[in-house]
Amino acid sequence: MNDIEAFIRRLPKAELHLHLEGTILPATLVELSARHDAQPLTLAEAEALYRFTDFTGFLDAFRTVCKQLIGPEDYELAAWRMIEQLSEQGIVHAEVFVAVGVIYLWRKDDPGAFEPIFAGLERARLRGERELGISLYWIFDAVRHFTVEEAERVFLKAAELKPAHPSIIGIGLGGDERRCGSAAFHTLFQEAARAGLRLTNHAGETTGPEAIREALAIGSERIGHALSAGHDFYLLQDLKEREIPLELNLTSNVRTGVCPSYAAHPLRKYFDTGLLVTLNSDDPAFFGSDLANEYLLAHTEQGFTRAELRQLAANSIRASFLPELEKTEWLFRIDLMK
Ligand SMILES: [Zn+2]
Repeated sequence: MNDIEAFIRRLPKAELHLHLEGTILPATLVELSARHDAQPLTLAEAEALYRFTDFTGFLDAFRTVCKQLIGPEDYELAAWRMIEQLSEQGIVHAEVFVAVGVIYLWRKDDPGAFEPIFAGLERARLRGERELGISLYWIFDAVRHFTVEEAERVFLKAAELKPAHPSIIGIGLGGDERRCGSAAFHTLFQEAARAGLRLTNHAGETTGPEAIREALAIGSERIGHALSAGHDFYLLQDLKEREIPLELNLTSNVRTGVCPSYAAHPLRKYFDTGLLVTLNSDDPAFFGSDLANEYLLAHTEQGFTRAELRQLAANSIRASFLPELEKTEWLFRIDLMK
């Protein structure tokens, strides 16, 4: 490990845009398949699954991995492996999407299936806190193209469980933006906010800046990807003035083909414009990356200096949903880093 890599590892940082299902490495997928399949996947087959070349191929692979998550033990295993990976990278806090929308749609005949699954996730989270000192929040993610009614079930479940489980910090909207925007979810977002849930949204990944405006109009507090914001000068000014955190995902955007190259990614432009940008890994197992590598890419591909990497880490803490006191403590620690 060279100097800059060691610096990145030591830097206290938060990961704010990470899908649990997207952290499942081929080896873990093989392990899950051995639990469930009469003819378990081989490692070579599992690896081949991750070699998609476009956004649709990515969604197909994601679906196949989700199908291997069945019981509470599967979710617990996936979450624990994820937490170990986070800890190795010097991540001190993570806010993780769980595709609750997928669980609900696929288990329509078994509405009680979710609570035991969530208990499995919580076991892994508490173990991570105890053994590795990492803090973790859950974001219940609905799939926008599954209909508003399906999203409502996800958000109502988050609201119902939150009082007993403060680790449920918010809700998110993922899925295929090309098939469904944000406007239809306005009322649901208002209700979720009233239940004390924080609002995140994927917008402007495969769609234009108008999708980001629409996401802001329904009250989204953080925008995932926001890749197309750069096409709209006034939107950039608005995002800056309101200090809306952007969850950027370099390798994800290059691998799904929505951004042609690392050099073409708007990270540098957004950063220099003064936007509250954060680096994230989205689905690291699918994209052959992780958050530490995303920081390294910011350095090698877009010339981010150590001071600027420190700023990105500080942004990740500021943009998190941690209590103010905890933010202050981490920001102080980051300030001390040379
Ligand atoms: Zn995402």
